[in-house]
Amino acid sequence: PIRVRFAPSPTGPLHIGGVRTALFNYLFAKKNGGTFFLRIEDTDQNRFVPGAEQYIMEALEWLGIAPDETIGKNEKFGPYRQSERKELYKQYADQLINSGWAYYAFDTPEALDAYRKAEEEQGKTFIYNHTNREKLDTSLVISKEETAQRIANGEHYVIRFKTPVDEILHLKDIIRGHVKFETNLLDDKVLFKSDGMPTYHLANIVDDHLMQTTHVIRGEEWLPSMPLHVLLYHAFGWAAPEFAHLPLILKPVGNGKLSKRDGDKLGFPVFPLEWKTEEGISSGYREKGFFPEAVVNFLALLGWNDGTDKELFSLEELVKAFDLNRVHKAGAKFDPEKNKWFNHQYLVQANDEKLATDFAILLKEKGFSPTLELTTKIVSLIKERANFVSEFWDLSDFFFVAPSAYDEKAKKNWKEETPALMQELISVLEEITDFTSANIETIVKDWLTKNEIGMGKVMQPFRLSLVGALKGPHLFDIVEIIGKDETISRLQKAIE
Ligand code: GLU
Repeated sequence: PIRVRFAPSPTGPLHIGGVRTALFNYLFAKKNGGTFFLRIEDTDQNRFVPGAEQYIMEALEWLGIAPDETIGKNEKFGPYRQSERKELYKQYADQLINSGWAYYAFDTPEALDAYRKAEEEQGKTFIYNHTNREKLDTSLVISKEETAQRIANGEHYVIRFKTPVDEILHLKDIIRGHVKFETNLLDDKVLFKSDGMPTYHLANIVDDHLMQTTHVIRGEEWLPSMPLHVLLYHAFGWAAPEFAHLPLILKPVGNGKLSKRDGDKLGFPVFPLEWKTEEGISSGYREKGFFPEAVVNFLALLGWNDGTDKELFSLEELVKAFDLNRVHKAGAKFDPEKNKWFNHQYLVQANDEKLATDFAILLKEKGFSPTLELTTKIVSLIKERANFVSEFWDLSDFFFVAPSAYDEKAKKNWKEETPALMQELISVLEEITDFTSANIETIVKDWLTKNEIGMGKVMQPFRLSLVGALKGPHLFDIVEIIGKDETISRLQKAIE
């Protein structure tokens, strides 16, 4: 059975690239009847940020792509937090020492600095690898007894992977196809430290094995780690999972990678939920009024499509259509305008009464509590022009308050004969008993035709009087909703 994981390090809020990785794992799992689990990779205590883990869980929950297994949920292969698995990793590091795949290194940070400097002076860069590991302070050059003694004395050490020499690795990535690595170009990565903590590489491989991960789907920035990871599986004698490295998400302009800082620069969220720190607030899609379905939809199309022009997909449709083999190699441009367009599509499709319930909260803040029926009606008239519920007030304020000023440009339509015409219009409106949109429209238009008055001469000043500008939905719908008295009163005010 397919088992995939999302394995973030809780170093801050999850940014949009991480969310896309989680989503593709989710889609792949669901498509194949498999399991999607969340593992928190918190072995690097220096980079631990309080609240980040909670944030990640809440974000996935909000997006509707919560894991099947994680901390506190179906803990079949738990714990799902690496810091709680700490005791487990040492034996695996020992196993590699015993089989000759790893060695102890005692070099102090000062000693390593000195090597680095010495190499730099010769115009080289120091890499801890096969060319120098025998010259450094490691268990490769001292006896077993001395190694044991130094460890027993409490000397600091790390365990490093003994990367094989002169090998060419031919590996397969589902998205990239055949990828080739030369082991001579790799360094001997640290796997374990004397403080008892594994590094990312060791913990990640051990856990993916123990948690029976079948596919590793993650960001392209991890592609350089793939040879080490495959070698580690080999060293343990375990079958390696399949790999799929997802394309980068690029800035809207230029070719750089979209960064966490771009969000506030672009005036656009790159985080699912708002994130507050002492330095400030980073905005989130949820707080900006995005629908989670819209966010999922546009993220799914960052690096994937179903081979047609189709852009609108529900989560179920995505699950059905998703195919890892169709994920692109090239980076995907992040387009804030397109994201708004997606939200607009979901807003237009959304149930008016549901939207009205959300809008009612805003209206209440403004001091208005119309009936749900009326709010729903207003929503149905204006939502076509909105991307977010938060824009509803600006699109509909004239239903609630008379204009306090008139748009300067539109005033050009207010001619000398206009007051007299508006006065006549008032008399016409006063006579109407069935004050509904279609009926008002018929009567007003009849009056215009009979008296041979041009439409524009009346309609534009009429709208200006009610709305304060030449905007808004169908004029007679506005007239019906604000009612006869208010319509007449606004006309009178405009004439004065
Ligand atoms: N903890 C790594 C991260 O923060 C996981 C990378 C992987 O999926 O192997 O992205």
